[in-house]
Amino acid sequence: MHENEDLNRVHHLIDDDRDKFLQILHRLVAQPSISARNEGVAECAELLCQVMREMNITSRIIPTEGQPVVYGEIINDPNAYTLLCYGHYDVQPPEPLEQWESPPFEPEVRGGRIYGRGVGDNKGQLLAHVLAAAKWLEACGSTPVNVKFVFEGEEESGSPNLRAFVRENAELLRSDLVYISDGGMHPSGNPTLSLGNRGILGVSLIAEEADRDNHSGNKGGAVPNPVWTLLHLLASTVHPSGEVLIDGFYDDVRPITETEESLLADLPFDRQEMGSTMGLEELNMDACGYYRRIMLRPYFNISGFSSGYVGPGSKTIIPGRAECRIDIRLVADQKSSDIAEKLQAHVAHHAPHVRVNVGQMGSMEASRTSPDHPAVPIVSRAIRAVHEVQPYVLPAGGGSLPNAVWPEELGTAHIGVPYANADEHNHSPNENLRLDCFFRGIHTSAQLMWEMARARQADRL
Ligand SMILES: [Zn+2]
Repeated sequence: MHENEDLNRVHHLIDDDRDKFLQILHRLVAQPSISARNEGVAECAELLCQVMREMNITSRIIPTEGQPVVYGEIINDPNAYTLLCYGHYDVQPPEPLEQWESPPFEPEVRGGRIYGRGVGDNKGQLLAHVLAAAKWLEACGSTPVNVKFVFEGEEESGSPNLRAFVRENAELLRSDLVYISDGGMHPSGNPTLSLGNRGILGVSLIAEEADRDNHSGNKGGAVPNPVWTLLHLLASTVHPSGEVLIDGFYDDVRPITETEESLLADLPFDRQEMGSTMGLEELNMDACGYYRRIMLRPYFNISGFSSGYVGPGSKTIIPGRAECRIDIRLVADQKSSDIAEKLQAHVAHHAPHVRVNVGQMGSMEASRTSPDHPAVPIVSRAIRAVHEVQPYVLPAGGGSLPNAVWPEELGTAHIGVPYANADEHNHSPNENLRLDCFFRGIHTSAQLMWEMARARQADRL
């Protein structure tokens, strides 16, 4: 069993090796890996695998239908807990290049931050787990718990093969907790612990009436207008209050527990400040109302509507065609396929000639780990030990991530702890990772391995 002394030694090693860690991150970021256009992704997988092997982590590349997964493991004791760290080594395209202060694939340290495409999203964050495990190996010859690494190469393209990969390798990936570090911390710098995410279903609705635009004077009243068709359909779909009127839409929505409600009340909230970050004068709701809406309730969004003419001057037409793009944000236990069917039935009833295009815009399932899950206090302790503050616990994030594959394919809970600074500019020019965030992330992962082992003794997970 690893003692407190071992833990201290690991934390000291982490403090001593900062320059080395930055060199390794530099190597990974200098290798482009843009999944959107298959640029350097396979090369980056090779490099990452190589980097892990240099740290004595048994690693290999596992092909998928798309980009390969880099898999690594440190198995010490079949009776110990197993931590599975998930991350992604692919990156977003770096454009617009002229807005970068230093080239995206030539990482540079300036003012306490390292700049480069992928430093935060997600190479620096996945590397924190690898380095933490490596320091345990160096200090003690083993990690306190078994550790597995799954680093995929197409997260930035929607993780199209992650589910199949996890399903096919369920035995290999068997674990007690899936741990994910991606995205940024709270703007205040306070660490957060995220228990889930909303899902998404993208749909487009297309109304076609006449096969051309018609004169609205000569034909107005005789030729149907597809804009009205879609407006009436949409009005029948969502009440002005935001309530979705599709039959059975809320049937499977997972109820919000008392613990989740109380977590919302603990989150920082300033109406005006929050409003101004969204370009609103004020946000007309309280903390619970706000967080409940963006985390724990579904939302039916219209993201685009196109028809007719809105250019200079006027053009008096009855458009032939109207199209509307929708993204429905789903919550835990709503299934995207079921909601797609219910929406199709709704359209078939209210506007049978409107085309519903599902699928081409993709979907992702929602997922939510219970705040009462025994891993939550273990992860909280690890964060507290390093940051010396209590993390904010988010019952779910508002956005969509591929987390549902873990409970659905492995039966394993997932917890996310972002390591990057809030202003990491992920997906933007001048992506950066604060060095203190990077190093603290390594400490946190190392501490978590130890906290899990301690919990194992008490059989808490
Ligand atoms: Zn990203």
